[in-house]
Amino acid sequence: MPARPAILTLALVLLASLTAAAPGSGAERGVGFDLRRTKITPKHPTFDGRREIRLHYGFGASRPIDLRIEVRRARSHRVVRVYRERDARPGRRLARVWNGLDRRGRVAGDGRYELRVGPAGGAMRPAGRFRLRTHVFPVAGRHGTRGAIGDFGAPRSGGRVHEGFDITAGCGTRLVAARGGRVEKAGFDPVLYGNYVLIDGRRSRQDYFYAHLIERPAVDRHERVRTGQPVGRVGRTGNAASTPCHLHFEVRIGGHPVDPEPRLRDWNG
Ligand SMILES: [Zn+2]
Repeated sequence: MPARPAILTLALVLLASLTAAAPGSGAERGVGFDLRRTKITPKHPTFDGRREIRLHYGFGASRPIDLRIEVRRARSHRVVRVYRERDARPGRRLARVWNGLDRRGRVAGDGRYELRVGPAGGAMRPAGRFRLRTHVFPVAGRHGTRGAIGDFGAPRSGGRVHEGFDITAGCGTRLVAARGGRVEKAGFDPVLYGNYVLIDGRRSRQDYFYAHLIERPAVDRHERVRTGQPVGRVGRTGNAASTPCHLHFEVRIGGHPVDPEPRLRDWNG
C-alpha cells in the first residue's frame, strides 16, 4: 500500500483540529446556535453621530444562552470592545448599540470594523462590517478649495496670517459639525469673521471654527451637537464681502489653530 503523502496527512491533521475547535465546545454544546437576520445601522456610521451604531440580530438555539459580541478591526482583527449578553433568548429580535469607544473608553479610530456574535466560550460568527468615521467634511454639498489665498499660514494685512483653510461653495450650502460636541461660541464679528460658530469636539482635544456664515448659526451657545448635524450655511459675511462665498474653517488645539488641510482631505475621502 503506498504511503500517504505528507501534505495530505498535514491537511487531515489541520482539518481534525479545526473541527475540534469549531462549535460544539463548552456551553454551546448541543444548543445548535445559529446567527440570523443581522443588520448594522446606520449604513455610514460616525462617532457621536445623530444615529447610534446598532447591530440588529437574532439567533436560533434550543434554550436561552449567554452571548458574546465583539467589535474588532476588520484588517488586524484586534478586538476593541466586547459585550456579554446574559440569558439571551433565541427567536427574538435583539440589538446591541456600540458607542464607538474601545474598552478603555477612548474613541476607536477611523476605519473598517466587523461585528461578531457567538455563544459565550464558543465559536464566533461574522455579523457584518462597516466603516467608522470620527469626522465628516464640514461642507455638505458641492465645494472646491480656493488655492494659495485660502491656505493655512498665508499672509494677511497687518502682519496677520491666515489661521484656517478656505473652502468655496455656493452661497447657502449647508454646513455640518465635523465632529459632535458642544457649541462654545456662536456670534457675529463685523471686522473679520462675520457670522461664526466654534464647536468644542466631543472626546477630542480639537475645536472647530466656522466663519463667514450667510446668517446666524443654526445652533446656540452651549448647545449639544452631533457629528454631521447642520450648524449653518456658507456665506461671505465679515471681511469676506469681496470674495466668493466660502467657509473659513479652523481646527484649534488648546485654542491654537493648526493646519486643517490634511484633516479636511481625510474627511473628504
Ligand atoms: Zn479664510
